[in-house]
Amino acid sequence: MSLDELKLKIKEEIPISSVIGNYLSIKKSGSSLLSLCPFHSDSKPSMHINDTKKMFKCFACDAAGDAIGFVMKYRNLDFVDALKEICQKQGINFDSYQEDKKSNPKLDMAKKILTKTAQLYRKTATTHKFIPYDDFIKKRGLSEEIATTYNLGFAPARNSLCDYLSSIPNDKDKTFALSIAEELGLIKRDRNNNEVHYDTFRDRIIFPIWDQFGQVIGFTSRAIRDDQKAKYMNSVDSFVFNKRNILYGFHLAKNAIREKDAVILVEGNMDQIALYNNGFHHTVAVMGVALGAPSLERLIGMTKNIYLALDSDGAGFTAMERINRQLAASGVVAKYLEFSPEKDPDEFLQMQGALAFQEKIDNAGTCFDVLLNKILPEKLPEVLDRKLEILNRVFEMMSPLGRHLAASERVVGLAKRLGLKAEPAQIVKTYEEFLEKIEAKEKVAARFQPKVKPAPASKYDEVEDEDPGISALEISELELQSKVIEEPKKILSKTEKLVVQELVQLPALFSEEKTLELLDLVSSVEVKKYIGKVRKVILEIDESEYSSVISNLTSSPEYSPELREAVSSALFKYKARELDAKTKNKILHDLKTKLQMELLKNKKDEIKKLQQACESEEEMTKLLQSLSELEVNLQALKKTKREI
Ligand SMILES: [Zn+2]
Repeated sequence: MSLDELKLKIKEEIPISSVIGNYLSIKKSGSSLLSLCPFHSDSKPSMHINDTKKMFKCFACDAAGDAIGFVMKYRNLDFVDALKEICQKQGINFDSYQEDKKSNPKLDMAKKILTKTAQLYRKTATTHKFIPYDDFIKKRGLSEEIATTYNLGFAPARNSLCDYLSSIPNDKDKTFALSIAEELGLIKRDRNNNEVHYDTFRDRIIFPIWDQFGQVIGFTSRAIRDDQKAKYMNSVDSFVFNKRNILYGFHLAKNAIREKDAVILVEGNMDQIALYNNGFHHTVAVMGVALGAPSLERLIGMTKNIYLALDSDGAGFTAMERINRQLAASGVVAKYLEFSPEKDPDEFLQMQGALAFQEKIDNAGTCFDVLLNKILPEKLPEVLDRKLEILNRVFEMMSPLGRHLAASERVVGLAKRLGLKAEPAQIVKTYEEFLEKIEAKEKVAARFQPKVKPAPASKYDEVEDEDPGISALEISELELQSKVIEEPKKILSKTEKLVVQELVQLPALFSEEKTLELLDLVSSVEVKKYIGKVRKVILEIDESEYSSVISNLTSSPEYSPELREAVSSALFKYKARELDAKTKNKILHDLKTKLQMELLKNKKDEIKKLQQACESEEEMTKLLQSLSELEVNLQALKKTKREI
């Protein structure tokens, strides 16, 4: 794939608001999305962001363009670097496109075979009138239109794919194609005769699986008879197919997800098709029960309204717990749809219909509330220790949400239901202490084992394949730490902004004792908190991680657009470098003086205002006196500033 193609895909796939949202805070106003424009000094949100038109436009300064244009302009990057940054932030592997670009014959062949195979099975299904296939479509109530949309196919009980590949005239091409098809798991080598291949899928209904761009990357299949070994059979994981990173039906669902600002997550491809067939187009399926980090990021980049509609059995419940935890770690509180006595959403739709399903959606509670209800025994314990034990489990369950209000509210609510007499503030404090302990533990673990592989939570988990590396849970740990219950924000002053920028650009300053003295002179709570947080984080990380960790930490909506903007422009200028003690001292002293001067000037303005409103002479004298004292201090400060 060429860079131009990648550019098109980015434009098509990723809402521009999700790209810009990485840098600016976006407000919804009616049907439009607005942000403070970073390209002029903007006091009211003048920048309009339009996901449908895939454009941004500032009506004050006329800055306008698409998502890539925004990143180029805002981050001052060239085209390729802007693409790279977008890929990195959206969880797209840029390098794999680079490899593509260099024309990878293996990948090209794989794509060709996968596309051809899908066509072959589809053609078999539509032209040969296989009764099991027709029965399946009829029984499931699938229209011809749906079968076409999903490119449903049929693999007969003979080696149709092998025959097709063997008909390639050029011997070299044929051998290459057969070897790739084997690697993709579409055909197998005969154990008794190494020269002979046979088809993997035989007597099966075939469902192609696509990547987010609509390229066929594998298949899942369903047996047509009870005596067949596996009811469902998937493509094996290969260089093009990774079960964990697949959201089945995503390329069909993405527009509806954006339009409805919601997504329904189901467990299997049949559920996805059934929901789509019933008008719930904003549905995607996880393959198995695992949700890989890229899938997770892709979804929450599009919507925060996520409904989990998994199977009604124990495995489905475990999957719900697990996915809910993953989402919570990204600050998303998922909703839960429950279908028992029906075994899954597909069966529910067949038995009760689309209206009943919509009702489920309208009345859905959160996964957390369902889980919390499970923790509470039917008969509340009398003994205090037992109650505290339950409360501790509640803490544990809510911990992925961190200090999110959604967590503390529930913790307090549960304490009340348990009949605990402590004040809500006390409960919240205890919960926060619990979180601090977990965070401390995680940090230690992270330092000694960069990739902590969590022990499988249940038997069900054990059947899952390899760990995807860093889990979404780990990725969002930093983000989690920075989620604090909202406090009134104060816009930062010019000097405070400067302090933040200098520190971010020269991280060596964070560890200086004198930086703490600076904080005493800062009046913005936000800046104090921010600097405190970076000071802590910086001890834990490597220089090479600095930019990405800080920009991640700062992207939390907890911070004002002013602060986020100040930091990102400072990060842009950041270069790792050593500072000697003298330079550090000078910079810090300078900042301190500037802060002091600003404070004095603010006081001066205040006094001047008071003077205007002043009625008695006595009062006026006092004010004048304070004013002259201030002036003396200011002059003294200016002098030391010159001397340094
Ligand atoms: Zn503007």
